[in-house]
Amino acid sequence: MQPTQLFRGVVGSHYGLDVTAQSAQLFAAKLAPSWKMVMAAKRKRIPWEVFRQQYEQLLDMNWQLYHREILETLDHASLEYSVDLAPQLHLLCYCQEGKDRCHAELLIDWLCENAPHAFVRGGSAATFPDLSLLEGGL
Ligand SMILES: [Zn+2]
Repeated sequence: MQPTQLFRGVVGSHYGLDVTAQSAQLFAAKLAPSWKMVMAAKRKRIPWEVFRQQYEQLLDMNWQLYHREILETLDHASLEYSVDLAPQLHLLCYCQEGKDRCHAELLIDWLCENAPHAFVRGGSAATFPDLSLLEGGL
């Protein structure tokens, strides 16, 4: 089985799995940072590097407790397929495309590192599907 290619996407703009503190459902919430961490980073009470460490610690902990449920959630999320049938999944957050400090990017790195047989990075923001092409009747 081919590993799932992971991409970042925007809630409301892409199919995929919501991994935000605000609105992730069920075990996808185990892949989100805590609300407290998000607010501290947004208000710049903690530097990005501290946010990253705290978030990775939280992921490590949740992975120990729930890795089976998390893998199942990712497996049943809204997968798409590339032309060569590689499964693809967008991990969704509210950051606009192109924003570089996004927890979903950290999550993609973390998943690829901790479950390398299951996941690979699907590429940069430049590879987002262009929805305007589809609307044009592709
Ligand atoms: Zn984000």
